[in-house]
Amino acid sequence: MKQSDIFIIGGGASGMIAAIIAKQNHANVTILERNPKVGKKILATGNGRCNYTNALAQTLHYNHPEFVEKAFSQFGPTETLRFFENLGIVPKIEEQGKTYPLSEQASSIVDVLLYELERLNVEIIVEAFVIQLIRKHQKFIIILSDGTQYEASKVILCTGGKAMPLSGSDGMGYELARKLGHQLTVIFPSLVKLTLQSPYLKHLEGVKFPGRVELLYNNETIQSEFGDILFTKYGISGPTILQLSRKANESMALNKTVIIKVVLVTQLQRMDVVRRFQNAIDRPVDFSLIGLIHKKIIPAILKEAGIDKNHRLVSEISQTKIDKIIELLFDWRFTVTGSKSFEDAQVTAGGIKIEEINPETMESKLVKNLYFAGEIIDIDGLCGGYNLQWAWSSGYLAGLNASQEG
Ligand SMILES: Cc1cc2nc3c(=O)[nH]c(=O)nc-3n(C[C@H](O)[C@H](O)[C@H](O)COP(=O)(O)OP(=O)(O)OC[C@H]3O[C@@H](n4cnc5c(N)ncnc54)[C@H](O)[C@@H]3O)c2cc1C
Repeated sequence: MKQSDIFIIGGGASGMIAAIIAKQNHANVTILERNPKVGKKILATGNGRCNYTNALAQTLHYNHPEFVEKAFSQFGPTETLRFFENLGIVPKIEEQGKTYPLSEQASSIVDVLLYELERLNVEIIVEAFVIQLIRKHQKFIIILSDGTQYEASKVILCTGGKAMPLSGSDGMGYELARKLGHQLTVIFPSLVKLTLQSPYLKHLEGVKFPGRVELLYNNETIQSEFGDILFTKYGISGPTILQLSRKANESMALNKTVIIKVVLVTQLQRMDVVRRFQNAIDRPVDFSLIGLIHKKIIPAILKEAGIDKNHRLVSEISQTKIDKIIELLFDWRFTVTGSKSFEDAQVTAGGIKIEEINPETMESKLVKNLYFAGEIIDIDGLCGGYNLQWAWSSGYLAGLNASQEG
């Protein structure tokens, strides 16, 4: 049976950095990765550009800011930028601090991590699917699906969550941790498209426009985002919606009905639009909206306002219906019925309970010499480099502390 000081289960973002840091600290490190290659999910990040950190990241944009703060104070975005610059990555910082490699290729991130792992002679065993992790006489026995067994003094679980299971992270790590006594919170997809109840979606599919979206519960706004909005055949998407999706899914998990309010007109005041209609009484009502909102949305707005003949002149439409059109331009509501599944999600909300993990070291409070890093932990953040940053921060801490004597 092969023995190594530290076995890292999962060769994704957190596993690779943990291995580099542990090996730099002279530990004997082996990565076990179920895929034929490490870093598969990283290649899909940031639309292939890898938004690998957020230079302006704030811990309040994570679900447990105080837990993340402990990791950031040791290895946050500044240290991450420096770490990757040392490996050769020149950062390209875009709006709101979103940071990409200057090459704009996610493969650059995988390439430099892999180069460093190879330079340090970290052993990487691929096509190694871990199905059991057993504690025996102060050691760990790791069993693969083909029956191969390894013995480890320390283990870092970096198996990710359940988002994009095709990348290899399908929730298996939760089971490994559970069998060692750890508990899992409720988990659900986050940074994911939402499904809506609406008769108009078939006609609106593919319509993209800038606007504001608000998530409402009990008629109160619980989150508001400005930016691109995209209607799809099942519901709504775009960066604004991804940012709202965590709160939407969290509320629905508590059986709360949530509403998406779309604000189509954000650059004009209501009075400006009222005047626009007053000046357009001799025009067809559908034409009166041209130039104000996306053309493909006009029939849906008119129908929602109770107008069935789109070419009728504004002067022939009742004031109540005109008022309804104006209201819809500033407040168009849809009931959220759910979200797309983990297959379509960028991140998993929920995971191994943070109360069971030491935030200074990432070591389990229940099982000595067991560490966690990355998405497997109940930490997730906004879209914009936050989730990879968590993988780097927690991976750094786990690698550093697992490589200490004792
Ligand atoms: C489409 C998409 C785009 C994204 N874009 C961004 C972005 O631009 N910026 C950002 O910050 N975040 C982004 N994310 C989120 C980010 O990629 C993840 O949060 C991050 O990769 C998590 O790192 P991890 O190491 O915890 O897990 P992963 O990267 O998922 O790695 C886990 C690894 O463990 C392996 N594994 C799992 N189980 C086993 C097992 N039993 N045995 C052996 N190996 C196992 C898997 O094969 C995988 O390689 C995106 C996610 C997706 C899906």
